[in-house]
Amino acid sequence: MRITFENKQLQVPDIVEIPFIEGDGIGPDIWKASQEVFDAAIEKAYLGKKKINWVEVLAGEKAFNTKGVWLPDETVEKIKTHRVAIKGPLTTPVGKGIRSLNVALRQTLDLYQCIRPVSWYTNVPTPVKDPQKVDMVIFRENTEDLYAGIEFAAGSPEQKKLREFFSKELNKALREDAGIGIKPISLMGSQRLMRAALNYAIKNNRKSVTIVHKGNIMKFTEGAFRDWCYEVASKEFKDSIILYDDLGDKPVPAGKILIKDIIADNMFQQALLRPEDFDILVATNLNGDYLSDALAAQVGGLGIAPGANIGEGYALFEATHGTAPKYANLDKANPGSVILSGVMMFDYMGWTEVSQIIIKAFQKTLEQKTVTYDFARSIPGSQELTCSAFAKAIVHNMK
Ligand code: NAP
Repeated sequence: MRITFENKQLQVPDIVEIPFIEGDGIGPDIWKASQEVFDAAIEKAYLGKKKINWVEVLAGEKAFNTKGVWLPDETVEKIKTHRVAIKGPLTTPVGKGIRSLNVALRQTLDLYQCIRPVSWYTNVPTPVKDPQKVDMVIFRENTEDLYAGIEFAAGSPEQKKLREFFSKELNKALREDAGIGIKPISLMGSQRLMRAALNYAIKNNRKSVTIVHKGNIMKFTEGAFRDWCYEVASKEFKDSIILYDDLGDKPVPAGKILIKDIIADNMFQQALLRPEDFDILVATNLNGDYLSDALAAQVGGLGIAPGANIGEGYALFEATHGTAPKYANLDKANPGSVILSGVMMFDYMGWTEVSQIIIKAFQKTLEQKTVTYDFARSIPGSQELTCSAFAKAIVHNMK
């Protein structure tokens, strides 16, 4: 049985098929470990009444080696028909060859929200003094900006045509040896993201939404993003919000969400200096990408940072780190990112009992200082576990 989407609501059958992409590099190790945790938590929560039948779909190296294509049409089709899927990391060669499979999947399914919650778990080693002050959720736009894939190489005929057009029609000179990328940011794309962030903020009792942008420099893209986001807040959510400019020196009224904005470079500074002032962050694609990794590092690195890509009735949950090829097949990597992405998936499906069981057992395992190599090297007195043993420890802690 598959998940369906009716009247803008997800319908999840008790016995449900979920497609998964195990991923390249460390993908197979961390997927296997994560699946064990998921199945144990579902069994504990529902005693056999609910169950996931995992359906493997191919992408990346495994797809290329068996089918000769990196992202087979049937994989995209299966994810489309099943609506919710989960994936490990996929290889993307730099500067040549295939474009990012992750970007392709996000664009094909129009998964316009990239959601990354960032908070600290006890004992996780971090480079900052007060990691517990970080509790943010990043809503990154996922389909536009310089990631739209509209790029022309220096010296290509397309680049030449563009240069001539810019020179003749717009009186703008572009260097002959310049690569050119186009940065589209639309009203629709910006506003649907802000709308999703505000709905999330209301549903989860969050305190503030901060629009992150570089509008001082890029006025018609980043600046417009800021203005369009404010417009959604003021017009569609006026009873639930208060604008920073209207607040003066008064405290935020009870039950209202504070809406403010910040220039991206300052955001990176403030995230370190005053993390407690930030809650939900809404960002354009490229800024959001940088910010997601920087904040993940602040609470202990990418090894456990989860992520979700969400569209209208479609969702793809994914490990936020890459394929860490040097640890492939060593049963060594931390499966935390896929496990916590699974927690987001269960929340999205409404199986919150499963999420609660996993989070509790995950926290307990970290408190016991039984961790994978990446944490063991910085936690004094910890016991280093393999990837699979870490998953077994989490399952044990569910009892
Ligand atoms: P990476 O694979 O994330 O690895 C960088 C380093 O991060 C690793 O060497 C390791 O650090 C640490 N790390 C990452 N995942 C870990 C885990 N699960 N457990 C413990 N440590 C972990 O980044 P990369 O080397 O830049 O990228 C490799 C490939 O992945 C590239 O092809 C890239 O395009 C792709 N990629 C895919 C995705 C995705 O599919 N979503 C995202 C990013 C990158 P130490 O060596 O210090 O232990």
